Amino acid sequence: MAPAQSKINSLHVAVIGAGAAGLVAARELRRENHSVVVFERDSKVGGLWVYTPESELDPLSLDPNRTVVHSSVYDSLRTNLPRECMGYRDYPFVTRPEHDESRDSRRYPSHREVLAYLEDFAREFKLVEMVRFNTEVVLAEPDGSKWRVQSKNSEGTSKDEIFDAVVVCNGHYTEPRVAHVPGIDSWPGKQIHSHNYRVPDQFKDQVVVVIGNFASGADISRDIMAVAKEVHIASRSNPSKTYKQLPGSDNLWLHPMIENAREDGSIVFENGKVVQADTIVHCSGYKYYFPFLNTNGYITVEDNCVGPLYKHVFPPALAPGLSFIGLPWMTLQFFMFELQSKWVAAVLTGRVTLPSEEKMMEEVTAYYAMRDTYGLPKRYTHKLGANQIQYLDWIAEQVGAPPGEEWRYQEIEGGYFRLATQSDTFRDKWDDDHLMVEAYEDFLRQKL
Ligand code: FAD
Repeated sequence: MAPAQSKINSLHVAVIGAGAAGLVAARELRRENHSVVVFERDSKVGGLWVYTPESELDPLSLDPNRTVVHSSVYDSLRTNLPRECMGYRDYPFVTRPEHDESRDSRRYPSHREVLAYLEDFAREFKLVEMVRFNTEVVLAEPDGSKWRVQSKNSEGTSKDEIFDAVVVCNGHYTEPRVAHVPGIDSWPGKQIHSHNYRVPDQFKDQVVVVIGNFASGADISRDIMAVAKEVHIASRSNPSKTYKQLPGSDNLWLHPMIENAREDGSIVFENGKVVQADTIVHCSGYKYYFPFLNTNGYITVEDNCVGPLYKHVFPPALAPGLSFIGLPWMTLQFFMFELQSKWVAAVLTGRVTLPSEEKMMEEVTAYYAMRDTYGLPKRYTHKLGANQIQYLDWIAEQVGAPPGEEWRYQEIEGGYFRLATQSDTFRDKWDDDHLMVEAYEDFLRQKL
C-alpha cells in the first residue's frame, strides 16, 4: 500500500504488555508522535524473559482461577536462535563496550542475557517512562470510534480510560495447551506442563515421559535426563515405528505419540513399547488468550487461530483502532515485532493506509482457503516458517524499510536446521561463521 500523504494523526494509544513486542511498539508509536501508555502487570519490563523460580500451583495450569505466573522460562534456557539475527534491527543483540564480565557473550546466550538486552533497549530509548507497572488491563472494548481500557493496579485501584487505539502485546506463551492422552484420567502418575518447569530436581530417579520434541521438549528432556532414571520423548512428528536412543545419552529414548495411559501406571506408545512412568511433562505448546478483550464476538480464537486478522495484525472491522503485535511464530520474533510496530504506528498516523475492510476480509478469506488447500490445521494459521521472508519483506515494504538482510534469513534457516538435526549441540557447534561476520560488518556499517 502506498504511503498516504494527506492526514497526519497523533493519537492516544494503549499498549498492553511491556515484553519484547510492547517495548518496540511503544518506541515506534512514540517515534510517530503518538502519546503512549504501556500497561504492564509485572513490576519489570521483559515479559517472558523475566525468569522466576516460582511456578503455578496447578502444574498443568488448568484452573481458570489460578494465580498466573507469566514466564515460561526454565533455569537452563539459552536462546534457540543466534543472537545476531534474534535482536531488533536497529539495536542489535550484541556485546557492547559498556558491558562488564557479568554479561553472557555466547552466540546463544542464557535467558538472563536476553532480559539484560531488553532492559538495555528500554533504557537506551527511554521507554520505561511510558510504562505503568503492576497494572493489569482487565477490559479493552470499543467505545464508539474509541477504545475503553479498564485497568487495575496491584493495590486494587481500578481506572477507566479512553484511548484512540489499543495495541495488544500480551504474549502467547503463558496459557498452556495440554496434549490429549487417551486413558489419562485414570492414570495415577503426575503431570506438569513446560510452562511450570524450572529445574529438573523433582524428577530425580524417575521414569519421565516428555510429550513434544521441539525447542522446549528437546531442552527439557535433556535437562531431566541428567537426574532421571529414564526419559522417553513422545512426538507426533515421529513415524509410528520410531524407537531409538538419542546420541550422547544412555537413558533418553525417542518414540512416536502415546497410544494410551493405563490405570496400572504404564504408558503405551504407538510403537508398541510400554514404560512404567512416574511423570508426564507436556511440552505441547501454548494457546493465544485475550481474557481482557471484548469485541462482541468479532474476534475469536478457534483451535489457536486468532481471527479475522489482516496479515496477523489488524482485525478488518476494528482496524486500525485495534491491532496485535507478535502473533506469528516460527519466525524472527524481535525483528517481526519491530516491523509490525512500524506498520501499526504509521497506519495510525495516517502515513500508510490500509485497504478497505472488504478488501482486508477478502485477503483473510483467501489466506484461510490456502491454508485449507494445503491441509494445514487451523492451529498453524500463525505459523510462518518457510513463508516468513515473504511476510516480513511485505511489511517492510509497507513502511518503506529495507527488506530483511540475507544473512539474517540464512542464519534463521540454518538455525532451525541445526535445532532439528543436532538438538544437543546446536548452541555450541555451527558452520556459518561467514554469516556472523556479515552480520557484524553490517552492524559496524550502521554504527549500531
Ligand atoms: P511476552 O514477553 O510474553 O510479554 C508480554 C507482556 O505482557 C508480559 O510482560 C506480561 O506481563 C504482559 N501482560 C500480559 N497480559 C497483560 C494484561 N492483561 N495487562 C497488562 N500486562 C499484561 N524467541 C526468540 O526470538 N528467541 C528465543 O530463543 C526464544 N526462546 C523462547 C523460549 C521459550 C521457552 C518460549 C516460551 C518462547 C521463546 N521465544 C524465543 C519466543 C518469545 O516468546 C518471544 O521472543 C518474545 O519474547 C515474546 O515477546 P512478547 O512481548 O510478545 O510477549
